[in-house]
Amino acid sequence: MAEAPKMRPPIETGCPDGFQYMHPLMIKNYGNWAYHDRPRPGVLRHVAKSGDEIWTVRVGTQRQLGPYEINLLCDIIDKYGEGYVRFTIRSNMEISLSSADKVEPLIKAMNDAGYPVGGTGNSVTMISHTQGWLHCDIPGTDASGVVKALMDDLYDEFIKEDMPNRVHITTSCCQINCGGQGDIAINVQHTKPPKINHDLVANVCERPSVVARCPVAAIRPAMVNGKPSLEVDEKKCICCGACFPPCPPMQINDPEHSKLAIWVGGKNSNARSKPMFHKLVAAGIPNNPPRWPEAGAIVKKILKVYKQDAKDWERVGDWVERIGWPRFFELTELPFTKFHIDNWRGSRHMLNQSAHIRF
Ligand code: SF4
Ligand code: SF4
Repeated sequence: MAEAPKMRPPIETGCPDGFQYMHPLMIKNYGNWAYHDRPRPGVLRHVAKSGDEIWTVRVGTQRQLGPYEINLLCDIIDKYGEGYVRFTIRSNMEISLSSADKVEPLIKAMNDAGYPVGGTGNSVTMISHTQGWLHCDIPGTDASGVVKALMDDLYDEFIKEDMPNRVHITTSCCQINCGGQGDIAINVQHTKPPKINHDLVANVCERPSVVARCPVAAIRPAMVNGKPSLEVDEKKCICCGACFPPCPPMQINDPEHSKLAIWVGGKNSNARSKPMFHKLVAAGIPNNPPRWPEAGAIVKKILKVYKQDAKDWERVGDWVERIGWPRFFELTELPFTKFHIDNWRGSRHMLNQSAHIRF
């Protein structure tokens, strides 16, 4: 009788088991921690019920690390640490140590190599950014570049804990997808409808998918120069950019008309007040690489005023709610324009409310 074919064992994918990478003291005391504190900015101490202590040093990185940086950092961690490191969701590195004696030499080695230690407590912690050019096909700016430029400027706020509360800043390289909420958020803002390259549409785009993608039904199939193409009703278009990913000939990125916008007051936490959506405070800011000075100046101004005016433990959104938006614009000297008023009333009859899942 023929042997039954052997089943291929399943290949486990997804997140690997984190225990294999943990510091031995963490595994030993798992679930049995008594308390933790912060002896200085950038350093955490966790004390277990057994009396064991584990020290964590948080180091800021330039986020996108090449082989040179990774090897340099790993060498330092092996030499001055114990070889255990993890990354936070904001791409800080956290290095675990079993004794207080090792903390200062590790900090010195990191500082000597140009890496700051901080990002804990009431600091401006590392800015989170969306994936950008490395992993995505639709960015309108280099979000990681904005982060690097801004964090260079905010270095002191990262290594100190001088803010009224923790400040989370986010950046996003398109205005529809994976950008997050932030105390301060810097997001791309397209200001003109897409320009269509009609020669390419028929070869590259699946027209029904593109038509279905538009949230305000502004795209229609059309014949142009005898070829099947698309047209956009520019009065309806809200310049969201959603048609560009399924159809790159719907070119919406534009060196002149793709701008940055700054939003303020978002938070996901429900400590002391409910989670909040951020609100637009500055629009039409030049998308100006490599240092984005205009966006950086506005963020620094908002942080300066927040630091001076907010009460202890107020997040940026709580502070603005207390003083009111008119006062916020007065204090930050940002111009309040007609573009800040959300007077779009099209959602009921224009937004695509179909329950179909589209890809
Ligand atoms: S924010 Fe938009 S462009 Fe940037 S990585 Fe996310 S989906 Fe892509
Ligand atoms: S998907 Fe967005 S950018 Fe494209 S036509 Fe519709 S509203 Fe305009």
